[in-house]
Amino acid sequence: MQCRPSVLLLAAALLAGGCSSSGNGEEGSAPAPAATTERPYLLEQVDDAAVVQLYADGFSSLPLREKTLIYHLYQAALAGRDIFIDQKHRHALEMRGVIEQIIAHPQGVDPASLREIQRYTKLFWLNNGQYNNLTARKFVLNLTPQALAAAVTAAAASGATFTPPQGESLDAMLTRLGPMFFDANVDPIVTNKSPGPGRDILTASANNLYSGVSMADLKGFTEKYPLNSRLVKRDGKLVEEVYRLDGRYGAQIANVVKHLEAAVPFASEPMADALRALIQWYRTGEQADQAKYDIAWVQDKDSPVDTINGFIEVYMDPRGIKGSWEALVFYVNREKTSRIRTLAANAQWFEDRMPWNPAYRKPSVTGIIANAIDVVVETGDSGPVTPIGINLPNDQRIREQYGSKSISLSNVNEAYDKSTPTSMRGEFTWTPEETERAEKFGALAGELTTDLHEVLGHASGRQKEGQTGSPQELIKEHFSALEEARADLVALYFLPDPKLAELGVLPAADQDDIVRAEYEAYTRNALTQLRRVREGTQIEEDHMRNRQMVVRWLMANTKAIEERTRDGKHYLVLVDPAAFREGVGRLLAEVQRIKSEGDAAAAAKLFDTHGIHFDAAVRDEIVRRVDALKLPSYTGFVMPTLTPVMGADGNITDVTISYPQDLTTQMLEYSGVRSR
Ligand SMILES: [Zn+2]
Repeated sequence: MQCRPSVLLLAAALLAGGCSSSGNGEEGSAPAPAATTERPYLLEQVDDAAVVQLYADGFSSLPLREKTLIYHLYQAALAGRDIFIDQKHRHALEMRGVIEQIIAHPQGVDPASLREIQRYTKLFWLNNGQYNNLTARKFVLNLTPQALAAAVTAAAASGATFTPPQGESLDAMLTRLGPMFFDANVDPIVTNKSPGPGRDILTASANNLYSGVSMADLKGFTEKYPLNSRLVKRDGKLVEEVYRLDGRYGAQIANVVKHLEAAVPFASEPMADALRALIQWYRTGEQADQAKYDIAWVQDKDSPVDTINGFIEVYMDPRGIKGSWEALVFYVNREKTSRIRTLAANAQWFEDRMPWNPAYRKPSVTGIIANAIDVVVETGDSGPVTPIGINLPNDQRIREQYGSKSISLSNVNEAYDKSTPTSMRGEFTWTPEETERAEKFGALAGELTTDLHEVLGHASGRQKEGQTGSPQELIKEHFSALEEARADLVALYFLPDPKLAELGVLPAADQDDIVRAEYEAYTRNALTQLRRVREGTQIEEDHMRNRQMVVRWLMANTKAIEERTRDGKHYLVLVDPAAFREGVGRLLAEVQRIKSEGDAAAAAKLFDTHGIHFDAAVRDEIVRRVDALKLPSYTGFVMPTLTPVMGADGNITDVTISYPQDLTTQMLEYSGVRSR
């Protein structure tokens, strides 16, 4: 599964529901703004999308063998990217062919038309098609069909090549694709899980995972290739078009396989096993081979380089069965991973000092280990818009028997942070010193809090002796929010502990500032997160409930936070970090008691009093303040570019990394429309 940053992608730690993470309370707690760093992060904003350059600083110092391995895996990632675009919509690749040719041959195209085609094409690239990543809704080209046709004619005169299918003229193709370019009501939603009464989730969804199939057709039909096939109704019969070497997407898969094979000799033995199993799955498409791949992949725990490649996540299918193609290539960020491992190795020290009833401490605890990684490339379902954390495989049987691997995407988080506009923080901080602290220490504070939350928070505590029934069953709908609160509180509680400096996970001299920056950010978030609930007066999402509850409880039970107004605007201001920490300890003791004893009534009261309801007038004010700043609502990344250096014998002697810092350049290179 993927953890995606939430609607306003301003920070590392804010994950979508279902992912156990986040300690950093505030989406806006980022470090130095783009303007003051030497290299660009935020490249441009297209409507509500930010385009941000991703950097992979550690790549250059990897050994040649690992660089070479990554280069071949990178090639495999690029070789499959069109698969996902075709999975999104049956016309998406044809549409891309038209608009990319115009973008690459702009001479003679009417300037106003060209600007609109550029805007549309950038959104198309960022979203891998004509549907918005966040809303699943179609966006359109705001031109007349005549203006598009004129742009095509002008581009053709400048050397563009358009390739209508055999037997169709260019005009006829443009007419056929017209409704997809211009009409928001034709195939309006890519994935529609609640189309309304009497409508079918498959026929109401515009994706290309099915063709002519409704849910009723599926009764009594057992799929042999549930994850990796397109299901088509042909002459009244259901046919599975299997994604494999001699099946659907065979041409792309052949290329992917060729590059995976080239990678094998440079991989560690466990990783080579996984790559060979993946190749076998691409050959046969069989479920049994998929399981072998999943097992081999999850058993490779220590390779410094890794890849995810294949039909993996099922979010685009309204049934949640069919896999979207994706690829990621990454290497372990040793420094950040070592911080995680240090905390995990000392988990017992922290457990013994949890501020709750000693009966609810674990006598023997192991921290949860994840790898912090740096991404080199992401394509398909995971790029240019990327997750920030991933936990795989999805197959529950394999997870139970062999475990799973968790990764957090460090350089993606860093790029989110560094591309955050300062205006967001400045709007909600009470003093310039608070803004400065957020810029200087916010990112590190957020990362540390997330590590403590994940590694120590979720791993800690135990149920009351003799308690039967899992806490989920006992605490029911409030369980997730309670558990997230528990993990956040563990992080907030230990952040000021001198043990952290002693372990070397933070610099002692900065600890007070780091703590203060985090407490301030967590506090501000109780206001700023309200912009995400634009309707009603209730918070539904569990992470949001937890954070609202913690801040409002502290306001009701300590003197740590003051609510102030200035020029008619509301602020939440941290005034006493020591009182904040003391309150966190008290609340944590109660939250752990509720979990350990399965006290559902107390959980319900806690959230009902502090975590769910809010003042609509304040929310409206926050929304106005945020909207006035014109912040992007999602981010797409320009990936690094790898270039091999070849020796006289045809072997790779080095691989260099560079950063295009331009979406158009990268996308036209990826498609082969423009060469480097
Ligand atoms: Zn969590």
